[in-house]
Amino acid sequence: MTFKDLNIIPSIMEGLSKANYTNPTPIQEQAIPAVLAGRDLLGCAQTGTGKTAAFSVPIIQLLSERSKGQGSKSTRHIRSLILTPTRELAIQIADNIKVYSRYTDIRCTAIVGGVSQKVQERALNQGADIIIATPGRLNDLINQKRIDLKMVEILVLDEADRMLDMGFIHDVKRIIAKMPNKKQTLFFSATMPPEITKMVKTLLVDPVKVEI
Ligand code: AMP
Repeated sequence: MTFKDLNIIPSIMEGLSKANYTNPTPIQEQAIPAVLAGRDLLGCAQTGTGKTAAFSVPIIQLLSERSKGQGSKSTRHIRSLILTPTRELAIQIADNIKVYSRYTDIRCTAIVGGVSQKVQERALNQGADIIIATPGRLNDLINQKRIDLKMVEILVLDEADRMLDMGFIHDVKRIIAKMPNKKQTLFFSATMPPEITKMVKTLLVDPVKVEI
């Protein structure tokens, strides 16, 4: 199986070859068609399996196809939010997305604590289609009304069990409440404790299950 078999568009294929990805990993083979079809996803996968590209490549493709011929950079709004437990992970995901989306019009930025808020606001003002955020800093920006999530089409919760362990559950719930109900949700967790199962039930609609 190749990325071409998964119907990845040429501009993203170029980014993937720049990253030296030739063939999709098993989780990518399973997840990419489901996400491209607009389905919700429940993934039980560890880091190291190619999980990042499994969700971000189809997101870049969906957003890129939906934005064809419309809007200028100044009218950009956040269309996808990726929530992660740590800033290291958020920055790593943002770096990967920059490589995959390099030959597309899609732009992303990381919103994390411990970094100047001014710098992140400037990046936001320049327009980002995708933001990769830790719950704490994102909530600060929401409370200051510096960020608007009303146009989010695709939400990713990455390492949901770790976000729960780190005490982010209330922040996460508050953030989700700021988004439209009607959206595509991709949910990843290495384990499924009861609190996570409860979240899955309220957030996901008829999800495709992917396990590695
Ligand atoms: P992840 O699980 O997303 O953290 O990815 C683990 C590592 O595998 C990262 O270094 C990725 O760049 C790499 N990787 C992901 N997908 C592929 C692929 N299809 N081909 C080669 N390397 C990949």
